[in-house]
Amino acid sequence: MLEIIRIHNELLGTYGDRGNADVLKFRAGLRGIKAKVTDISYIDALPKEGDIYLLGGAEDAAQMLSLTALKKGMTLNKAADKGAVLLAICAGFQIVGSSYVTRDEQVAGLGLLDVSTNPGDKRLVGDIAIESEFFDVPLTGFENHSGVTTLGTDVMPFGTVLSGNGNGINGVDGAISGNVFGTYLHGPILARNPEFADLLLERAMGIQIPHVTDEIADHYAKWRRTVIK
Ligand code: GLN
Repeated sequence: MLEIIRIHNELLGTYGDRGNADVLKFRAGLRGIKAKVTDISYIDALPKEGDIYLLGGAEDAAQMLSLTALKKGMTLNKAADKGAVLLAICAGFQIVGSSYVTRDEQVAGLGLLDVSTNPGDKRLVGDIAIESEFFDVPLTGFENHSGVTTLGTDVMPFGTVLSGNGNGINGVDGAISGNVFGTYLHGPILARNPEFADLLLERAMGIQIPHVTDEIADHYAKWRRTVIK
C-alpha cells in the first residue's frame, strides 16, 4: 500500500494543489498499485511512514502556520532523509527551503532544499511552461506568488522557464535534491502533467512502472462502468 500524505490542506489548499494526491492515487490504481491518501491537519502529528508527502500553495499567514507546525518533531525532514518522496508547490517550496523573507522578518525553513526566497517587487501571476530534463514534453501550470527564489549549490533547478517566471530569477523554476521536488507550478501540476505523477510514483516504489496506454485506460474505464452499475 502506497501511503500518500496530503499535508495541511486547510492551510495549503488555496490554489487547488490538493488534486495532486488524487492524481497519484488514480494513476497508481491504473497499474494495480493500491494507494491511500491521508489528510493531515496542522494540529495533528505528521505520520512517519509516508511514501509520498505533498505540500501546496498558500497565503503568507497560512504558510507560516504550516511551517511552525512542521518544525515540531521535524518528521518531514526525517522521512525525506530516509528517501520519502516530497512534492512542494509554491508556499510549500518556500517552506522546505533554507529561508524566506516575509514583510517583517527572515524565517528559517525546513532546510530540505538549499534555496532562499525573498519578496519580489511585483506579484508573478499567469500561465507558465517549463522544460525539465526528466520529461520529453514541456510541463505547464499557473503561478501566483511574489517570492523570488535563489538556488544554492546543493540543488538543481527543476526546469528551465519557457514562458512565465518560475523562481523569478535566472530563468529557472523550482529545485530538486534527491526525491525532494519544489516548483512554482499549480494546476494541479500532476493533473496537467501526468508524466510527473508517474515519475513520483516510480521514485516512491523504486521500480519502473508501465506507461498508461489507451488499452490500460479503456480496460479501467470498462471495469469502472461495471462497478458503478
Ligand atoms: N505566499 C507566497 C508568495 O506569495 C506563496 C504563494 C503561493 O503559494 N501561491 O510568494
